[in-house]
Amino acid sequence: MRWEDEVQFLKGVGPKRAARFAKLDVHTIGELLSLYPRTYIDYSRPVSVAEAPYDAPAVVRAEVLQKLPGRRISGGRTLHRVECSDGTSALSLVFFNNPYTPGKLKVGEEYLFYGKVGGGFTNREMIAPQFLAPDAGVCLTPVYPLTEGLSNYTITSCVAHALKEIEEVPDPLAEGLLEKYKMPAKGKALCMIHRPAAAEEAEQARRRLIFEELFCLQLGLLSLRGREVEQTGAPMEKADVAPFYAALPFSPTGAQVRAVQEIAGDLCAKAPMNRLLQGDVGSGKTLVAAAAAYMAAQNGYQSVLMAPTEILAHQHGETLDGILSGLGLRTALLTGGVKGRARTGAVSAIESGDANLIVGTHAVLSEPVRYYNLGLAITDEQHRFGVRQRGLLASKANRPHLLVMSATPIPRTLALLLFGDLDISVLDEMPPGRKPVKTHVVPEEKRRDMYGFLAREIEAGRQVYIVCPLIEEGESDLQAVTAYAEEVAKPLLPRARVGLMHGRMKAADKAEVMRAFKEGRLDALVSTTVIEVGVDVPNASVMVVEDAERYGLSALHQLRGRVGRGAQVSYCFLLSGHAGPAARERLQFLARTGDGFEVAKYDLQTRGPGDFFGNKQHGLPSLRVADLATDTRVLKAAQQEALEVYKEDPRLLKPENAALAVAVKALFEDNTVMN
Ligand code: ADP
Ligand code: MG
Repeated sequence: MRWEDEVQFLKGVGPKRAARFAKLDVHTIGELLSLYPRTYIDYSRPVSVAEAPYDAPAVVRAEVLQKLPGRRISGGRTLHRVECSDGTSALSLVFFNNPYTPGKLKVGEEYLFYGKVGGGFTNREMIAPQFLAPDAGVCLTPVYPLTEGLSNYTITSCVAHALKEIEEVPDPLAEGLLEKYKMPAKGKALCMIHRPAAAEEAEQARRRLIFEELFCLQLGLLSLRGREVEQTGAPMEKADVAPFYAALPFSPTGAQVRAVQEIAGDLCAKAPMNRLLQGDVGSGKTLVAAAAAYMAAQNGYQSVLMAPTEILAHQHGETLDGILSGLGLRTALLTGGVKGRARTGAVSAIESGDANLIVGTHAVLSEPVRYYNLGLAITDEQHRFGVRQRGLLASKANRPHLLVMSATPIPRTLALLLFGDLDISVLDEMPPGRKPVKTHVVPEEKRRDMYGFLAREIEAGRQVYIVCPLIEEGESDLQAVTAYAEEVAKPLLPRARVGLMHGRMKAADKAEVMRAFKEGRLDALVSTTVIEVGVDVPNASVMVVEDAERYGLSALHQLRGRVGRGAQVSYCFLLSGHAGPAARERLQFLARTGDGFEVAKYDLQTRGPGDFFGNKQHGLPSLRVADLATDTRVLKAAQQEALEVYKEDPRLLKPENAALAVAVKALFEDNTVMN
């Protein structure tokens, strides 16, 4: 059989199983072989039944003594029991509704069983264990991602058939590369990853497959970027920020001045700017964005600023208009919530060039609006500004300058992939007068005291944010916030004006609540986490987070960054009634640490990179083996080699690159990112 043949024609598959494989995105033999094991069961070190840890997975070696006939139990199920022993203890194997698996076991034979040991102390049992005959000749067996109707056993045997039947495995990596990095050929690597003789073999295969994947990813991104670079743009001519600084109510920090200078240099250079502005929450990134937009306007160019949500777009619109209108610049707000006359007005100002700065969510790029002369695009807290958005941006302007602002310290490798060869400016200095936010983990019994404290802050003219408990099953956002406000916040803060906000509210209503809070018409704001990254109300001095253990530390740090923006001492209270000791320790770390970078590092270590950005937040194709945050060494090499190939054969038309061209296309086609 060939790589691209349909999987249903493989021995033992057929149309019915093929439909189930389709749920795992497996349609062809090649895709079946690219379904890599998630992990392996290691049968090489069995423990005795008596010693097996309770309720945790273990491998034991035991002899089958007796197979009991199937017995009907409640719920119309049938239970099959197989009695075993290893001399140290008896062990019952239990199978529900499955006569086939126990049918394969022979009385009097020894097997290796893998499963959780449960049951009572005297009658130990394993439910539906996996097993291996001791003479099977392997000690690692693959564990595949499962779907309904396909057992691990079925997938394993289909993969084994495919490995046997396939005539030739196309290899996207040239022989020279394989030799240079001492990597196995593709066919060999597939055997090694699906049926490794030892753990090292699986690891070696994995490394080669990671290399291949990152290599293809790089080539795909290069060819996309190549298309961008083919267009030409015009550098700006002057960048005089003195009038801008003169119009500010405060003087910029040294870090802000440095970042603005770097941006000025980029704007006047021949190549378009591609810069990441990194600064902890509250470091004053908005001001730098305003300066950049000001310089673009000096040169007759429009700028667009994209925020992740409508609320933030509204807020940025107001802030930036406040700074820029005195300098004769016009800001237009364009979001889904802007309707009717306001919308027509904004659109015509954008098209005529009257609007110098356009503020919106990233939907501004999908709007059927023609920009008069877009020269600069700024994104705020949008790690999702990926490949697709770049494409949209390119359709609105010729090689616009790009400024990406983020409070999250993005791992350098990921940043390189997302933004290409980018420069970084860091705001490593807080505006003067900032005091660290005093952070406390509050035990349940201190809740009343804490509310007493909130009441006193409100008496003193301050405002507080309360992030309410996470939504329970069957509950809506609205119910959760309302119930919390009525049952907890209002009774404990009888004299406060309490506002509500939740995710299901219309954008305009959210903006209205936010405005009331900002203008001091509300004392407390009870909200789901829609009080997001970037909201700026300097008079707010307390942030309360209920169920704090359910958030990542970086997310909590972002929430905490909503206070401590004025001159007063500010507080963050983390409640965590249900947290275990480990979760409590994480929260304590946050209480001790004010530095966002340290917090992100700790998060990365304790929660792993998967949670760092959330799933698929970065808009790249999803990868099967590579982990962008950790496989950095391989990434570097793959990047370098991809560039070499790209220089020689950018469109991958040479015959020796045929397999590579197919692989790159497949990686990007699987994913909607490219459309
Ligand atoms: P972030 O980097 O989190 O986006 P913002 O741009 O929202 O931070 O700025 C946080 C607060 O600091 C705002 O209230 C802003 O007006 C204020 N601010 C920014 N720069 C300065 C400065 N140089 N001096 C005093 N206050 C500043
Ligand atoms: Mg911000």
